[in-house]
Amino acid sequence: MKNKILVTGGAGYIGTHTCIALHESGYEIVIYDNLSNSSYEAINRVSNLIGQSIEFIEGDIRDAGKLKEIFNLHEFFGVIHFAGLKAVGESVAKPLMYYDNNVSGTITLLAVMAEFGVKNLVFSSSATVYGDPETLPINETSPRSATNPYGQSKLTVEHVLEDLAAADKEWSLITLRYFNPVGAHESGQIGEDPSDIPNNLMPFISQVAVGRRDKLSIFGNDYPTIDGTGVRDYIHVTDLAQGHVAALDHLQQQTHAAGFLPINLGTGRGSSVLELVNAFSKVNKIDIPYQFAARRAGDIASCYASADKAQELLGWQAKLSITNMCEDTWRWQSMNPDGYNTK
Ligand code: NAD
Ligand code: UDP
Repeated sequence: MKNKILVTGGAGYIGTHTCIALHESGYEIVIYDNLSNSSYEAINRVSNLIGQSIEFIEGDIRDAGKLKEIFNLHEFFGVIHFAGLKAVGESVAKPLMYYDNNVSGTITLLAVMAEFGVKNLVFSSSATVYGDPETLPINETSPRSATNPYGQSKLTVEHVLEDLAAADKEWSLITLRYFNPVGAHESGQIGEDPSDIPNNLMPFISQVAVGRRDKLSIFGNDYPTIDGTGVRDYIHVTDLAQGHVAALDHLQQQTHAAGFLPINLGTGRGSSVLELVNAFSKVNKIDIPYQFAARRAGDIASCYASADKAQELLGWQAKLSITNMCEDTWRWQSMNPDGYNTK
């Protein structure tokens, strides 16, 4: 059976963890990444962890010529498509850059896949496509909307995939909607390495813990939630990585193409900002100074997944706890205070 997978954006946070899980499950991997938000060091560390040199090609998903060269060289079973830009604030300031990278880039990739008859895709979507949910937990048929160009770029790609599946029944287009990925590999060798001031909560907490930032600002304490702070469904990146293996295994086993298949990857449990901060402090025995600040524009009160479809269809469910997420984040951060720049 063909088991070679092209992993676009495989040098990034979720990509590196997924490459390790894929390798452990017997898949062969080729990483394709332009290193716009990652580094050679991340790839070296993946190679060290799997005990062999991982195949890496530096390139951009918008470069059809380069993609064709790679598809000529390798016979792929499918593509896991992580490559994209993900900073919400930057997307508001630079919408063209986001639509070009995330939407045009994906269309270029899909066109090359079609040309070479490779019609299995696992796409990184996001819970952001649910906008401000009317009901909780969120399931895959909940209404979709976007509040910023990043979210709109994910939603647009989803529409492209739906249209493609309708036009050509040979495609299997699994669209994984991630909730809030956090944590790091248990070795402490790979993890999330924001190049700028972190936008996301967990990297901010861990940079406060390591002394790179003075204190955390908690955006809003007057939401209609358990303690007034925002509630999210935090999921360990190792569980998320296993979700991708489960998605590919599902595609390997089926006799008919899956069409457009959206699946939530979340735990089904929500935690508030204060709950996460307190868990991090308790588990790692580190005080995290914080102050309450105004709500962040565009934020919603609560968001958590129904993870039933992933369980029923893929036999996948998240196993790791908030405690694991806090421990593993801190192991990575304390061993690598400056991320991959740490000497
Ligand atoms: P990341 O930035 O760490 O990884 C993305 C990788 O893609 C980086 O290595 C980057 O260099 C590469 N890349 C970007 N544009 C490229 C291009 N044009 N050509 C080739 N490579 C390119 O991000 P991540 O957190 O690992 O996220 C992976 C995917 O999951 C993204 O599509 C992101 O939007 C999506 N996602 C992430 C989260 C999250 O919170 N981390 C949540 C939901 C969805
Ligand atoms: N948050 C916060 N301070 C920060 C970063 C985030 O209080 O410095 C809050 C944010 O308002 C939200 C939660 O933490 O309620 C998760 O935010 P994140 O940006 O990590 O994820 P998203 O909002 O995209 O789900």
